[in-house]
Amino acid sequence: MPIDPNIPLERCRNIGIAAHIDAGKTTTTERILYYTGLTHKLGEVHEGTATMDYLPQERERGITITAAATTTYWNWQDQKYRINIIDTPGHVDFTVEVERSMRVLDGAVAVFCGVAGVQPQSETVWRQANRYKVPRICFVNKMDRAGANFFAVVEQIRERLGAKAVPIQVPIGAEDNFKGVVDLITMEAKIWNEEDLGMTYKVVPIPDDLKADVEKWRTFLLETVAEYDDALMEKYFSDPTSITPDEIRAALRKGTVARELFPVLCGSAFKNKGVQALLDAVCAFLPSPLDIEAVKGINPKTGEEEVRPVDINAPLAALAFKIVTDPYVGKLTFIRVYSGVLKAGSYVLNTRTGQKERVSRLIQLHANKQNLVDELAVGDIGAVVGVREVRTGDTLCDEAHPIALESMTFPEPVIQKAIEPKTQADSDKLATALAKLAEEDPTFRYWVDEESLQTIIAGMGELHLEIIVDRLRREFKVEVNEGEPQVAYRETITASVVHRELFKKQTGGRGKYADVVIEFSPYDKGHFEFINEIKGGVIPREFIPSVEKGILQAMQDGIIAGYPATGIRARLFDGSYHEVDSDSLSFEIAGRYAFREGCKKANPIILEPIMKVEVETPDEYTGGIVGDLNRRRGQITGMNMRGGLQVVTALVPLKELFGYVTQLRTLSSGRAYAVMEFSHYQPVPPHIQEQIVAQSKGLKAIKEQV
Ligand code: GDP
Repeated sequence: MPIDPNIPLERCRNIGIAAHIDAGKTTTTERILYYTGLTHKLGEVHEGTATMDYLPQERERGITITAAATTTYWNWQDQKYRINIIDTPGHVDFTVEVERSMRVLDGAVAVFCGVAGVQPQSETVWRQANRYKVPRICFVNKMDRAGANFFAVVEQIRERLGAKAVPIQVPIGAEDNFKGVVDLITMEAKIWNEEDLGMTYKVVPIPDDLKADVEKWRTFLLETVAEYDDALMEKYFSDPTSITPDEIRAALRKGTVARELFPVLCGSAFKNKGVQALLDAVCAFLPSPLDIEAVKGINPKTGEEEVRPVDINAPLAALAFKIVTDPYVGKLTFIRVYSGVLKAGSYVLNTRTGQKERVSRLIQLHANKQNLVDELAVGDIGAVVGVREVRTGDTLCDEAHPIALESMTFPEPVIQKAIEPKTQADSDKLATALAKLAEEDPTFRYWVDEESLQTIIAGMGELHLEIIVDRLRREFKVEVNEGEPQVAYRETITASVVHRELFKKQTGGRGKYADVVIEFSPYDKGHFEFINEIKGGVIPREFIPSVEKGILQAMQDGIIAGYPATGIRARLFDGSYHEVDSDSLSFEIAGRYAFREGCKKANPIILEPIMKVEVETPDEYTGGIVGDLNRRRGQITGMNMRGGLQVVTALVPLKELFGYVTQLRTLSSGRAYAVMEFSHYQPVPPHIQEQIVAQSKGLKAIKEQV
């Protein structure tokens, strides 16, 4: 199907489909693409032909992990809508990738299994969508399966997710006999025609045995939406029969966009039932790019916040949310345009690098079929080919109006572990795979340790690294053995000292000579500050940068336990030199020794990363969870009810959080959910500092023996 650029913004939908694994996300997406005319064959997930799954490995597993985007069209009420489906990663974790795909969505379809209902992972995904303020409609799938119960799932959505679920259909028949729905908005009963795989339906009178249910839920619908429209409210009390379907839809749309109401539909994606009504509902109730707030960013020149309106005439601002390497086209950068228009062949500014880049081609795609387009306008989603220096999270914008939509500084990793390729073949592929992962995820780092020659991967939490290793295996087919995770401690000083370092060596011929006097003191504004207060040339100017270099090198090796030092100011204010024996290297060495010896006397301490943890749990587990957090040296910072759940927030040392997710599952029968993110570094208690220092001495001793 050709790309249609003539669709106004109010008829565009950028949506994601979210679900617990196995609820039917892939099948539903597949059917959507079928009905919207993009695929002509119905591919079954278990036959391995589903279209949205991007990588062959994913197809094998039937799990979608790559957040690519597909553009498709749907006619509703005789008007054409463009629907961009952004594939949200199926796994549960709080990572940059999930965040980004949530961020570029305007709305989502939450798919539930009609039998299993609200499963732990559906709770997770639901809360993630809450956090990113994504309006949703719900699709209760698998209505054809034994034990499917639409209204039980509606009840669970209310109870477990604390969401005001509003059914807009009542199923006709169930299980094997599931054959249609009553539309509560039009009050039509529709039965699908079996001959054409549910493509068409016939309208029949509402079956007698459903009349009571239909009446009950119709009343519920009207009562609920009446609050969103005064005129409708009046009609509801004076003459409910005069309320039109369009009035109901408009009010329900208001409530849905405000994330106060969640329309619920039912169907069986596998049996091609209910998918068209779902597409209608996407058009009717989910927001267009015009319905959401204008995007905010920071002007990199002034540091001031700026707003970009949802307007094609405003300066270009686009966010790169996903990078995929395509075997045929090369690097595809998926972007969402938040304002203005991006034209093929134009130049854009990458705010992070400060470089202008040429956009050679723009495409919109349907899995591996690419359609060239001339432009991507405000509100749209597509991919850019030809931008070289780009990472996820980068802003591409109008050079004359620079803006950064996301923070451009990323926190230093707080956790690391060694990995080792299992075979030579794995070893060959490892470096390329790690480079690609780092390009996609700026909070992920890797390097080869100089001493052990091991490859170290580092990131923002235990789960983050688990996902990286999982992706190595699944997407890059690289198998690795993993070491234990290590906390990235830091060291600093808490007192000021003045230290004189005289470095002098006489070894026949020309000697070495450098003499420096430096004050080391705590510095709370950043990593390091160097102040040069040398007067009267007591140290020649050309040697001064060498002193700084030496100190910076020594900081890498720490003070008491070998962890990198941070938060230090060095003030070089005196010293001397020798006409013949002094050189840059001598001053560098003097700087290094000065740091090492000086800072030992400045009350050095070890800092540990503290994570901000938020646990959401049904109230009955709160006691156990709080007790467990206390045992982990956690400091509880808040307890609130939210959507019927208890939310416990705490600050907990990362070291104590290893294995926490598993423990939490045990404590709550899988029903509590935790997110954690790095908060800050904090001194470790003295007895733990002693342990860390003792361990590091032990390690050093072992290394020296070898
Ligand atoms: P995902 O993990 O959420 O992407 O789920 P899939 O779409 O891969 O579906 C998981 C399994 O459930 C597959 O074997 C599907 O064929 C099956 N399935 C999906 N939708 C339905 C449905 O409506 N009815 C029935 N009976 N099975 C379904």
